[in-house]
Amino acid sequence: MTGGGRGIGAAISRKLAEDGYRILLTYSTSSKPAELLVDDIRNSGIDAVAVNCDVTDAREVALLATHPWVSEGIEVLVLNHGRYDRIDAKSLDYAHLRRTMSTNFEGSFLVWDSVKSSLNSEARICVIGSQLGTRGSPHGADYSASKAALALWARSLAQAVGADGKRVNIIAPGFVDTDILAGDTPEKRASRIEEVPLKRIGTPDDIAEAVSYLVSDEANYITGAVIHVNGGLYLP
Ligand code: NDP
Repeated sequence: MTGGGRGIGAAISRKLAEDGYRILLTYSTSSKPAELLVDDIRNSGIDAVAVNCDVTDAREVALLATHPWVSEGIEVLVLNHGRYDRIDAKSLDYAHLRRTMSTNFEGSFLVWDSVKSSLNSEARICVIGSQLGTRGSPHGADYSASKAALALWARSLAQAVGADGKRVNIIAPGFVDTDILAGDTPEKRASRIEEVPLKRIGTPDDIAEAVSYLVSDEANYITGAVIHVNGGLYLP
């Protein structure tokens, strides 16, 4: 579970722990919330551990594979980490594009590549994309491109590993109440709510519920799907 210590990742970690999985979650800069979450999960009777891993650092990602829980086999892999810096597409520079791609897309590839030999035969993989990976954004060209690449990479993987018994799916959230929206003015927030047919901003739990379903046996004929969890905000 990458980026599992805060925001949407924390909700997914909690939900998968409720589902009975022991949780290895990674964090990059937010050690405190990650450690507190691990304590909470352990107090609920499920084992959990937080591992420091910046997905843009190939050496740190390679070390993940040496963790004993990884070596013992992975049932569910969730690639959730991501960054969104909201930059006008017209002023995006190459350094920033590289940073976003190396986090959102290449970082996901690196994690997969590092742990793929430890995936159980019927492992389930869930990738957190974005609605912007399909529709684009004038203030997120780098982000949208990284999420589009991520989704198509994951769909390709689904086609490649299906015969081995593994499933790969993508969740594309709409607006979700995390630090990503923390800079919104009250007016901006109100206009977002107005834009959503269900008339509310999504919660991290909305996304966690979808992950829980996709990795469950109930979803055992679903692979390569992009599931839009967005209150109807964007209907491709
Ligand atoms: P947050 O900004 O709250 O959390 C981002 C997460 O990504 C943190 O756990 C952070 O870890 C981790 N992360 C960022 N950079 C790195 C890195 N280099 N290496 C490892 N981990 C990293 O965002 P959300 O919880 O909202 O987003 C979670 C996912 O959902 C992201 O992929 C995002 O793109 C996607 N999403 C979110 C939407 C929203 O409206 N909130 C909408 C659509 C998609 P740390 O804090 O330890 O650095």
